[in-house]
Amino acid sequence: MTKTRTTADLKRLLAHVQRRYFPRVLNIHISWGTPEQLTDGIDWPWAVSSWAHPDGRFIVLSDRLKRAPRYVVMYAVFHEVLHFHVASRKVTRRDGTTYWVHHPRAFVLAEHAFEYFKSAARWMRSNENLSAGDEAAA
Ligand SMILES: [Zn+2]
Repeated sequence: MTKTRTTADLKRLLAHVQRRYFPRVLNIHISWGTPEQLTDGIDWPWAVSSWAHPDGRFIVLSDRLKRAPRYVVMYAVFHEVLHFHVASRKVTRRDGTTYWVHHPRAFVLAEHAFEYFKSAARWMRSNENLSAGDEAAA
């Protein structure tokens, strides 16, 4: 299986995922980042992030995913693009305080449209203890 390693690989993958799964192709910047940049110190090796900003939409993937099979990286990209299509929901508690639900039911249901959803989720679970230098299982 070919690996996704460069920014150009990511851009190609993003274009493919958007054309295949989404009604509109959005203008999104995509790049690799380090897990430390992405998780505020929480140990979650496959951290990915996306955000909308007045300057544009951004997706950053943990560079540890460079060792993952292409369908896993594709899933991470799909998941982040989906965030731009299904809005997070603000919930108000009885005491008036609020919190955000970033994966509301509509999001969770839409995720199953991704053809390798189950295999990608399984791969991430079984490889989550990888340290930076290890080679991933296929
Ligand atoms: Zn998410």
